[in-house]
Amino acid sequence: MIYFDNNATTPLAKEVKDEMAACFDIFGNPSSLHFEGQKSRQVIEKARRRVADFIGARPEEIVFTGSGTEANNIAVAGYALAEPDGMIITTAIEHSAVLKPVCRMEDQGRTAIKLLPDADGRIVVKDALGAIRSVQKGLVTIMLANNETGVIQPVRELVEAVKAQGLLVHTDAVQAAGKIPLNVDELGVDMLSISAHKFHGPKGIGALYIRGGVKVLPVVLGGSQEHTMRPGTENVLGIAGIGKACELASECCDSRLRDMFEELILKNVPDSFVNGKNAPRVPNTANIGFKDIDNQALVINLDIEDIAASTGAACSSAKKEASHVLTAMCMSSAEARSSVRFSFSRYNTEEEVVTAVERIRRTVERMRGRLG
Ligand code: PLP
Repeated sequence: MIYFDNNATTPLAKEVKDEMAACFDIFGNPSSLHFEGQKSRQVIEKARRRVADFIGARPEEIVFTGSGTEANNIAVAGYALAEPDGMIITTAIEHSAVLKPVCRMEDQGRTAIKLLPDADGRIVVKDALGAIRSVQKGLVTIMLANNETGVIQPVRELVEAVKAQGLLVHTDAVQAAGKIPLNVDELGVDMLSISAHKFHGPKGIGALYIRGGVKVLPVVLGGSQEHTMRPGTENVLGIAGIGKACELASECCDSRLRDMFEELILKNVPDSFVNGKNAPRVPNTANIGFKDIDNQALVINLDIEDIAASTGAACSSAKKEASHVLTAMCMSSAEARSSVRFSFSRYNTEEEVVTAVERIRRTVERMRGRLG
């Protein structure tokens, strides 16, 4: 199998597997005062330091969560609980782990603004500032890298502009982690979400950075774990895994394979086009449109050819509707439905790219032949 669906999830790194395996027999409850409990506590605090180092934060600013989805929900809903009259400003191209909580808040009467991107899938700072100029209290939640196109959003520029207004900023960095350098002070954000399985860590573990002093309330209530922000006995194995994955991910991948792939596709597959090509993008993501091709049918046909790719976000790829990201970029529904995401990791090779492009060329030609 040629696995080009690394934005959906990544294989576990061997180093991460080893780190987790070494923790299998550490079973104590990290909140217990005795020796068994403190062994688990040590695993957690070591991982917390690694996560903090990875994003330039302090360990006490890291909250372990059950996923990137949960980190986003705590950021958005936790802000809303703390600030009942704060506005929410987001973008139309966020992952559903931000869009859905925001939609629920709108249903409950809160005001929200959804910024639209340009044709390359990037939010334009000037337009954003125009739309939020008069907002006096609110949370801006904007992703750092889009999961479908890989387009990097102007988070730092936006932060610089809205800080004077006193707004807080959260960024969903789930698709940026391990692909571009992350530093919370350089970005200037108040909250930032990551998820281990997107960068060769285990599934079911994420982290939310909350800058010291920022007021957010817990969404789930219970014990005092994770400074009460995420109660529940900690997932010690998962936490060991995210810590190691962060340590490994400080070396970001380069765009060599993605650039080679796009060049070969454009050269060999007629009527193909790259979505978001004029915007800065994370180095591993190619979103390609194939004129007159149904993207779901193409993904299934490529699976038969032993190539794993995706129509968009893994959690909505069974849906028939066109991608909300591509349609927000003013692409027609037909263009959006012809687009497939290929995403690479440090475990892919040039040989895989060459083989895959040839199989994609053949498959597209065969599918178009059937149409003609
Ligand atoms: N945010 C973005 C941008 C994502 O791409 C994803 C997963 O695809 C998530 C959040 C959710 O992360 P998780 O799968 O850990 O819940």
